[in-house]
This record gives sequence, structure tokens and C-alpha cells, in this order.
Amino acid sequence: MFTFELTMQKRGNHEQVFKKFRDYTMALELNGQILRRHRLYTDINEDEILLRVVAPEATSFNRDNENTIVTNARNALEEIYGEPIVWKNVGKNLNVGDSCECEKSSYYILKGDMKDTVSPVLCGNCGNSVPLYTLPRNYSREEYYDILEWQRAYNDLTDLFKQGLDERYAYDMLNKANSSLNVEGRRIAKALNEKTGIPVYYHMFKYYGKNKDECPICGEGWKNNDGEYNVDYICHRCKLVSSDYE
Ligand SMILES: [Zn+2]
Ligand SMILES: [Zn+2]
Repeated sequence: MFTFELTMQKRGNHEQVFKKFRDYTMALELNGQILRRHRLYTDINEDEILLRVVAPEATSFNRDNENTIVTNARNALEEIYGEPIVWKNVGKNLNVGDSCECEKSSYYILKGDMKDTVSPVLCGNCGNSVPLYTLPRNYSREEYYDILEWQRAYNDLTDLFKQGLDERYAYDMLNKANSSLNVEGRRIAKALNEKTGIPVYYHMFKYYGKNKDECPICGEGWKNNDGEYNVDYICHRCKLVSSDYE
């Protein structure tokens, strides 16, 4: 992950500019080009504001990573601001893990309880997260929105669970294969598999102790002995993986 910054001049129309800037950063978030909850605004002086964001790759702001919503929002911002928006790469961000740089992944894992707000799509080969905008471009806004909303719900439930609030309810949602949360997650994994042609395994949450020896959906044995997959359990038929809690 990389930290980028942008210095903006405060002019007479600053409020309108800032509103357009928010639309633009929201569009970047929904396209996976910047991380959620990592925007930092600093007043440097009366005339200038410094904006910092975190992006998955050094190349995240390349124009060909934009979708039409980002491009339209950037054009609207540049028009009202009167200058092109140029992000400066400050360097590698050490708070957040790296992104996948593999040429091609042989499989993906969809994992909801990723720390922070990185993409929940992990590369099976390197284990790092795959920026959403690098996934097939025929995704509509709504489809990315699905992934982000599902991830948000997942994070809220893991927070509830870890804080001991509504613990039973939260654990059932996270742990039961047929909870609404996991049904939605598996639907997203399947859709992603159809779009990419790459197998997408859905990661089942496990907190207390060991998993059962049988896949929670089809009931077949699912202990993994295949070194190609870095997980304790895998069911190729149901496209499910899990690991024991340590
Ligand atoms: Zn990778
Ligand atoms: Zn199964």
C-alpha cells in the first residue's frame, strides 16, 4: 500500500470544490482505488489544505484504473477547481499490508474479516489482497457496492463479536454456513468466479477451537493435504475454505 498526497488551494469557491472532492474520493473508494477510513485532511495554513489517502498500488491513480464514475467525478472537480488533480506518491505505507502483484492468480479467496478496509479478495498464491479495480471491468457500480456492503456488515459483526456484544448472534452469523451473511458472501464469490474464470473459495470464519472434519455444506471430508492450498480445510465442490483458530 502507498500513501499519496495532494495540496489544494483554498479559493473563494472552496466549499463547492470540497464537495466535488468528496464525490471524487467516494467514487475512488467504491472502485477500490483508495482505502476507506484512511482519508486525512490537514489545514496547512489559511490558503492550503493537505489531503492524504492510502492506495493499494503505486499505479492506483493511473487513468486506466478509473471507471466512468471516477472519471466523471474527477472531470467535475477539475473543472470547478481549475487545475488537473495530481496525486503525489509519498512512499510505501507500513500500516497496511501489501497488495498482490502476481501476474496471474491460480485461485482467489473471499475473506470478510480482513483487517481494516483492504479488498476482501485475496490471491491464493501470495496471500495478499487484490485491488477491486484490477478485477474484470464489466463490473457495474452496484456489483462492487455489493462486495463493499457485505464486507462492512462482516466487519461490524466481527467487532460486535470481539467486543462481546450480542456475541451469540454475531458468532452464528459469522460461523453458520447458511446465515444470511455467508449466503451473500458465497453468492459474491460465485459471481466473481463467473466473471474472472478463476476459482473463488469462500473463507469460513472460525474462532473457537477446531473445525469439524466434514464440510459444513456437503458433509464430505474437507481436511486439506494439498500443499498448493495454504489452508487447513478445503472443499472444492462447495468452494469453501477455513483454518483452525490458533
Ligand atoms: Zn498474488
Ligand atoms: Zn462441501
